[in-house]
Amino acid sequence: MVWLVWALVVAYGMVMLIRRQAASRAKLAAAIDQLEARAQARPGGAADRPIEVVSPSEVEVAARSTPCPLCGGELRVDEHAAETIDGTRLRLAHATCIACSSSRTLYLQIKGLP
Ligand SMILES: [Zn+2]
Repeated sequence: MVWLVWALVVAYGMVMLIRRQAASRAKLAAAIDQLEARAQARPGGAADRPIEVVSPSEVEVAARSTPCPLCGGELRVDEHAAETIDGTRLRLAHATCIACSSSRTLYLQIKGLP
């Protein structure tokens, strides 16, 4: 009979632990979503608010100098490409944070180009 009480106590403890972990994961996911939304609202976070640079050679420098919005780490530019979005010629820097490995795209525009 004692073993049954122990089994119930252990099972209850496991359920409570799993619930706490699920709640923690949900809070973390919500915090990440909020940080990502803030990052998209900043310059370079979306195609309609690009970071302005004066030449293509500044694209990588500007992207690397933008801190990771999740951890503040440095971004490594994996590649950058030119694309026209809604009639605007942009440079898209696809980058990965060297600290937390999150990936993101930064939008840049070369001054003077349409
Ligand atoms: Zn990071």
